[in-house]
Amino acid sequence: IDITSSMASNRIEDLDKIIHRLGEKELELLDISSVVVVDQARRVMGHTDQTRYGSIMNDPFAKRATRADESLIQRGTYFDKDLLWVSMPVVSGFKNKRGLRWGTIIAGMGLERVNKKILNLAIEGLVIMILTIAVSAVIASTVLHRQLVRPVRLLADSAKDFASGKMDSRVTIEGRNELSLLGFVFNDMASRIQVHTLSLEDKIRERTVQLQDSNNQLTDANIRLEELATTDALTELFNFRYFKEYLALEVRRSQRLNFATSLLMLDVDHFKNYNDTHGHPAGDDVLAQLAAVLQETIRNTDVACRYGGEEFVVILLDTTKEQAKFVAEKIRSNIESTKFEGEEKQPNGVLTVSMGLATFPDDASTDDELIEEADRALYRAKRTGRNKLSC
Ligand code: GH3
Ligand code: MG
Ligand code: MG
Repeated sequence: IDITSSMASNRIEDLDKIIHRLGEKELELLDISSVVVVDQARRVMGHTDQTRYGSIMNDPFAKRATRADESLIQRGTYFDKDLLWVSMPVVSGFKNKRGLRWGTIIAGMGLERVNKKILNLAIEGLVIMILTIAVSAVIASTVLHRQLVRPVRLLADSAKDFASGKMDSRVTIEGRNELSLLGFVFNDMASRIQVHTLSLEDKIRERTVQLQDSNNQLTDANIRLEELATTDALTELFNFRYFKEYLALEVRRSQRLNFATSLLMLDVDHFKNYNDTHGHPAGDDVLAQLAAVLQETIRNTDVACRYGGEEFVVILLDTTKEQAKFVAEKIRSNIESTKFEGEEKQPNGVLTVSMGLATFPDDASTDDELIEEADRALYRAKRTGRNKLSC
């Protein structure tokens, strides 16, 4: 304003003083490198560099500034310094010349300080931004931990417990969000599985008991079946099938281990007569009673079998002919002395048996040969008087 009014009233000395003052301290303060006042012909009327008085300013900004009706700002350089050129039209304030354009003020303002300020502001902003981000991150992670990580971990722990067999494991539900919904769903699922598992376990227990029962029954049935397959129903001695198998086995064993096996064959004397006299059922009773006597007389390692009809065999394990003769005599005399119902009507007044004996390996080299030899001996016993042993 001072400059404008000095120029407007053509008080050049005042203008000089003002510009000089600007040059001394205020320029430094404002970082103003130069202030020029030019007239419309761009002749320097005032300058912070006093040597420039009277010269013509020919730079493009000065040209534009003197032509423009308003203030201009443009970036430029002055003695290699970055600065802003600022211009302002000077208009007359006199009554009679109001509005008349006198000239233009052109000032150059250094950018260094501004830039530094901007840089400081930017660093300050950056620091604030980093701090803000850091604080936000801490808050976010705390919130995240409270609202997401912790519930998810609790859920995972419960699921792990549940999976390892803790059927009553449940999640504590906090708040009302998607995760607590997940917790509800998990708890519901866990309850259903628990109920289902318990009923399943009950069923399994029940089935296991049933299975054990039927398995026991099956084992019993198998044992029974085995018994039926190898036992003679009337006498409860082993049957013919078992006898054949066992004898073959025993002969092979005798051969391998080099010991003797004896085979005793028995036939009831005049049994047809007994049947004819007392009837077939009474004959059956005699056969059963006779089998019991036989069984009681032999060792439990010897094997008594019903060979068929009223014929019996005894396999005497690890027994020589001499030992077998002794056993045979015991059997014969035991049967002779046993009281059988109605035996007095037999030809000799008592029920007796005849016996044939054969020993492996003395008399035979195979099981079949052994049977044949025992049978032959039995025939001899019958032919030579009955109630005796032949060998
Ligand atoms: P022996 O042997 O002394 O020469 O005279 P036997 O009368 O015993 O001879 P035989 O072999 O001719 O007769 C055997 C009889 O045994 C014929 C049959 O009626 C009888 N018998 C065979 N098996 C059974 C049976 O399971 N039950 C009964 N009650 N009798 C049977
Ligand atoms: Mg017979
Ligand atoms: Mg007979």
